[in-house]
This record gives sequence, structure tokens and C-alpha cells, in this order.
Amino acid sequence: MVETRKAASVRSTLPDGWMPNDRHAEFARRFAVDLTAVLAFFKSTHSCGATSRNWDASFMRELRGAARAAPRHGEPLRIVDHSHTYACRHVLALLSRDAALGDGIEYRTATLLNDGLTEHETMAQLREEGLIGAGMEETT
Ligand SMILES: [Zn+2]
Repeated sequence: MVETRKAASVRSTLPDGWMPNDRHAEFARRFAVDLTAVLAFFKSTHSCGATSRNWDASFMRELRGAARAAPRHGEPLRIVDHSHTYACRHVLALLSRDAALGDGIEYRTATLLNDGLTEHETMAQLREEGLIGAGMEETT
């Protein structure tokens, strides 16, 4: 007879209806973290295939990281070491997009980041290739 594992020990992708709880909101208020922005980045992490045993705890870690990095509104969060995809939060943040369009710009951006270019170098390369307009500047 096989023992059933506790639900809490099972890794899962982010449930569709998952939302931050009161503790998250309280933390965001206290440390002046943009909850909406962090949530948008966090949810797009799902596209990179992230799984968690406890999404509430994972989001709290994300908020703590955001508080440490002290991002201003609209500023991309620090890029962690992983394989970027066209829809991952780093690509979307860099392109100032709320959602992935699945176009060549996103694929190219992910490739450049995966090749080890910095955010600045990636944006410069995209401009050079004519994929983004000169008017699309980084928010610094
Ligand atoms: Zn990424």
C-alpha cells in the first residue's frame, strides 16, 4: 500500500486563482513595495516553469527581495540566473510589456539575455537591430 503524500510537500505551478494575502499586502505597505508590479513579475515567472510547495511563502520571498532591491515603480527587478523565455518576467520587464505577445522581439530579447548580455547591452542590441524604436528607452 502506497502512502499518500501530504499536499503541502507537492510542488505545483501557480494556481490560476492565486492572489496575495493580507500578510503580503501588509508587508508591501510597510516596506513601500509596489505590490501590483511585484505580483505582475511574480505571475509571469510561471511562464518559466516555476513550481513551489507553498506559493504564499514564495511570494513573500519575492516581496522581501523587492524590498531589498528597493525598486522604484516601473523599474525591473534584479535578474536572477535562469534560462529566459520569450514570456518570462525579465524579458517583459525589459520591454515594458504587461503580457507576452509571442513576437520576435521577445524571443530575441530572451536569447540576448541568455547569451549573457546585460539589460543595457540587450536594449542597445535590440535598438541596433531595429527591433525597438529609439523612443523606447529604459526607465532609469
Ligand atoms: Zn527570465
